[in-house]
Amino acid sequence: MDEIYSTLEEKLGYLNSQQIQMIYQAFLFAENAHRLQKRASGDPYIIHPVAVACILADMKLDYLSIVAGLLHDVIEDTPVTKNEILDHFGEVVANLVDGLSKLENLVFKSIQDKQAQNFRKMVLAMASDIRVIIIKLVDRLHNMRTITALAPQKRQRVSKETLEIYAPIAKRLGMHDIALELEDLGFLGSYPVRYRVIKEAIAQVQGRHTQVLNEIKNTFQQKMIQSNVPFSTIFGREKHIYSIYRKMKNKRLPFSDLTDVYGFRILVDQVDHCYRALGVVHSAYKPVPARFKDYIALPKPNGYQSIHTVLFGPHGVPMEVQIRTKEMDNMANYGIAAHWLYKTTDEAGLGLIKQHAWLKGLLEIQKRTGSSEEFLENVKIDLFPDEVYVFTPKGDVIELPAGSSVLDLAYAIHTDVGHQAVVAKVDRQFAPLSARLKSGQTIEVITSQTNRPTNNWLDIVKSGKAKSAIRQYLKTQHRQSMIVLGGRILTKAISQGELCQLSDRHWHDILTKLGVKSKEQILQEIALGIRNAQEVIGLCQDYQQASGGELEQRLKIKGSEGMAIEYAECCMPIPGDQINGLLRIGRGIIVHQAGCPHLLKAMRAQLQTVAVEWAPYVVGEYRVYLRIETLNQRGVLAMMALAVSDAKANIDDIVVENHTDQQAVVLLKLKVADKAQLASVTRRIERIALVMSVKRSPL
Ligand code: MN
Repeated sequence: MDEIYSTLEEKLGYLNSQQIQMIYQAFLFAENAHRLQKRASGDPYIIHPVAVACILADMKLDYLSIVAGLLHDVIEDTPVTKNEILDHFGEVVANLVDGLSKLENLVFKSIQDKQAQNFRKMVLAMASDIRVIIIKLVDRLHNMRTITALAPQKRQRVSKETLEIYAPIAKRLGMHDIALELEDLGFLGSYPVRYRVIKEAIAQVQGRHTQVLNEIKNTFQQKMIQSNVPFSTIFGREKHIYSIYRKMKNKRLPFSDLTDVYGFRILVDQVDHCYRALGVVHSAYKPVPARFKDYIALPKPNGYQSIHTVLFGPHGVPMEVQIRTKEMDNMANYGIAAHWLYKTTDEAGLGLIKQHAWLKGLLEIQKRTGSSEEFLENVKIDLFPDEVYVFTPKGDVIELPAGSSVLDLAYAIHTDVGHQAVVAKVDRQFAPLSARLKSGQTIEVITSQTNRPTNNWLDIVKSGKAKSAIRQYLKTQHRQSMIVLGGRILTKAISQGELCQLSDRHWHDILTKLGVKSKEQILQEIALGIRNAQEVIGLCQDYQQASGGELEQRLKIKGSEGMAIEYAECCMPIPGDQINGLLRIGRGIIVHQAGCPHLLKAMRAQLQTVAVEWAPYVVGEYRVYLRIETLNQRGVLAMMALAVSDAKANIDDIVVENHTDQQAVVLLKLKVADKAQLASVTRRIERIALVMSVKRSPL
């Protein structure tokens, strides 16, 4: 058996032979996949995944995690695909490895605090399974232990990321040991000089006090035995370098003023022995007042439990003593990972986890359902936020509600970016504004100065900020276009009489008589059909209705009226069609084809019409449907699509309405500039040999 594998194998005693067999298969698979690669140190690559698996085994994680630990770099670094892992090792492992590969691609760039916080949440949000995070942390731990092999610049970057992202995540999950080691290694890599200064200072103090420390340890041991308190270990505990640095920085203290540079930890068997041991140490040395903390009765929010006290040692050397049970020690070191440690067998262990406020509810769920998946799902809900986190091209992380789209992100960047958004690049691929965001994506929004929000944008966005910005815009826009249209309707009405335009005095008359404050309001009301233009003009004293001759002028539709003009759904008029306008109160003008049955019916019902016609130059694209009867043969839809694009028109949709083996009826939904373009499309489609008839629909 392979020498490298045997280091892992000897740690697997807690698993059954079938599980160990699968782990061995994973080892062989990984070794083969990585066989051509070396670590930066020159070692064969397989050393790394095996080391990761060993740490996971020390934490007594389930066998699937260890399999995933062995395979964690194969998707990222070798040609192996997720599907191959799925075939060999099943879905859980495949998803774990896939999740790890996605995290591998995240690179933290920013140095701002707020950004680090969002980035941490992004890491959590991207993991579908809490084990992905645990394995990732262990992976990072081993990489940090071997970081000296990296080039200085990369070492610096990885160290900063470790310090700002991964160590805090480990802490959040209660994985204390890993967090502390990540901090120290991250600190060494980011600030090597500061690290060495503190380390040397500690070594000096320790050198001076070696004798004293041994003396204290012996005293503790003797006293514990005398008092008949069973204990498993007492050990001198160096304070971690980064926590000393943080203390100096936060409290602005010089090293010499730090009191508890080192301490002791006493591990006992039972909870009540903790308190008896506390009595013993307090009788051996005088406690420092107000430094005693009972985290057993009141655990820290991440579940940490222990008794802490600070004593005056011999020669006035202060020292911190931590007293806890072995289980508490495991929880302190492994945090959430201890769930697997105590999962099935150890009732005492389970009881211990129960004291952790944030695990408590989850464990109750697990007890009810007995399902491990549901447990993980609930851990995820509890830990992982209801948000997505995405990168801007500059590397900033932006937080948005889950379900947000590209357009939400555009508005999150700036209201103007939102208003002018046209399309986006999601991880360098083009995507529509409606594309839903996933944590970890990099999004670039492409804008155009001429672009404006439309009504259906409200359906695309999720965030409150985007929604209100769009509503605000539409409201102002609607008002503006109504005012312009009202002005045009009024001008048209005036030109039928003897006035050419309304002077300020006329407006004064109108406003006083109607008791309305602004001209704009009247124009808006005319456009909305709330006021009649003729009646408004009639309020001017010197206005006289033209007699006789119907010189009615038609309102010109230019296609640029925006929301003031609607095109009727029932007949879908396009430029070139004969048209007429229907004034619908509160909506403005709705343009119908002149012969539209709906329009004729409305006219019979005495609804008000506005005479309209197309302006000589009309802008925009207009919806139109063609109903096509065709022989049902393969490729006919493609030919139609080609015909449409040949005529430079755009297809919205192709719907096969009904078909037999021989024939089909196809509804082709298009956008065209005018009737001429429609004719060009129709001609091209008629030329397709399989097509039997082409009709505009409706009408
Ligand atoms: Mn790795």
